[in-house]
Amino acid sequence: MKLVSGNMIWTEINNIPEKYLYLSEDLSCDVVIIGGGITGAITAYYFTSAGINTVLVDKNIIGFGSTSASTSILQYEIDTNLIGLKTMIGEDNAAKSFKLCHKAVYDIQRMVEDLNDDCRFAFRDCLYYSENRGEVDSLKDEYDLREKYDFDVEFIDKEKGAERFDFPLEAGIYSRKGSAEIDPYKFTHELIKRSIAMGLKVYENTEVAQIKSDSKGVIIKTKNDFSIKASKAIITTGFEAVNYFNEEIVKFYRTFTIATSPLEKIKGWYNQCIIRDTNSPYYYVRPTLDNRLIIGGEDIQIMKRKSKIANLSEDSPQAIEKYNNLIKRIKYLFPNIPKYNIDFRFNGIFGVTTDGLPYIGEYERMENCYFNLGYGANGILYAVLGGQLLRELYLGKESNDLKLFRFHRPGAKINTGE
Ligand SMILES: Cc1cc2nc3c(=O)[nH]c(=O)nc-3n(C[C@H](O)[C@H](O)[C@H](O)COP(=O)(O)OP(=O)(O)OC[C@H]3O[C@@H](n4cnc5c(N)ncnc54)[C@H](O)[C@@H]3O)c2cc1C
Repeated sequence: MKLVSGNMIWTEINNIPEKYLYLSEDLSCDVVIIGGGITGAITAYYFTSAGINTVLVDKNIIGFGSTSASTSILQYEIDTNLIGLKTMIGEDNAAKSFKLCHKAVYDIQRMVEDLNDDCRFAFRDCLYYSENRGEVDSLKDEYDLREKYDFDVEFIDKEKGAERFDFPLEAGIYSRKGSAEIDPYKFTHELIKRSIAMGLKVYENTEVAQIKSDSKGVIIKTKNDFSIKASKAIITTGFEAVNYFNEEIVKFYRTFTIATSPLEKIKGWYNQCIIRDTNSPYYYVRPTLDNRLIIGGEDIQIMKRKSKIANLSEDSPQAIEKYNNLIKRIKYLFPNIPKYNIDFRFNGIFGVTTDGLPYIGEYERMENCYFNLGYGANGILYAVLGGQLLRELYLGKESNDLKLFRFHRPGAKINTGE
């Protein structure tokens, strides 16, 4: 599948910060991380900062997978809302999942403080809203439940909505703090740079062709026939990791994004908050620190990996129609928007699990391998949780939180194909 296509904002506005050699010798280490996207970089940061001898390899160059196309909204709220998640996994676990994401936003802030660059990180408020009268009560219930768990939320009725926004809104939940934005590509590179200073070894253009694991440890073989011997392998290969499983563990969608030129202040966009609607699929909007507007949505489900949509070319009529729909949506949401250009348009594949939660932990068929797979719209926050939980697991302190994200959990019905 074509993971990303188009002119991705992050790789265009940043030069390639650093290049790394490919692996040209056999190595031994404590932990080998396979995949150098944002998840691999976050995981490497957590492991090296605990003094663990870690090597990271990527088959391509750092940050050029899904990471390069990420809109990089960091939101405490999960795609499955709190009430929906409560029905699937129980109220305590649902609230716990939201709380963990909330904390992960602040953990990212702390990581950024430890780097030499702000990675365009900024806190933002966020709005989750509906323009459908029939959803007012359910949004109120969602608001009540979030308030019960001390999230800093405000219920927005139609009148308040009209004061703050120029688009039709019947009801919404406005959340203060707990959400942020970042430049995912810069963040990935800065984390890797910081981890190298703490002992990480990094190899680009080094494809893992085989993982041999048993009760003693792991030996990975690269495509150019070198090997890395480790006590654990951590697989952070994003959506390509599905190749390790016979079961279907995630549904794939292609999602479309455009980013405008920097704009004058937009009227009817209260506090330049992050906006998401309740539609399915939904549209979402975020600003950037240089006042661009990024809008995403228009998702299409990928039914077959060899289908046209799984391998969509950037200039196909279908892609162009999707970008045009996003332009129309900008006009609908912000009728008074000043004149702008579309500077970037790109699309990428993302995966969704039944309960909206990631897969973090061990998988029974692969001894001494950990997975950190942040499937879902909160992929980056999930990568943080994975980095922390897997480090604890490696150090012999298995957290109860891992149960929320394990393979074969009740909330994520895995289709075994039988
Ligand atoms: C359009 C779009 C918008 C998104 N918006 C958001 C958002 O707002 N907020 C959010 O949190 N998340 C968002 N996501 C999801 C988020 O981007 C992903 O969760 C995240 O980028 C995944 O990072 P990763 O490091 O796991 O995967 P990737 O970035 O894909 O990295 C995996 C790496 O593994 C390497 N690899 C694969 N196979 C091998 C192998 N055999 N050997 C060696 N290396 C290998 C690849 O080369 C790649 O570099 C979005 C995704 C898309 C596509």
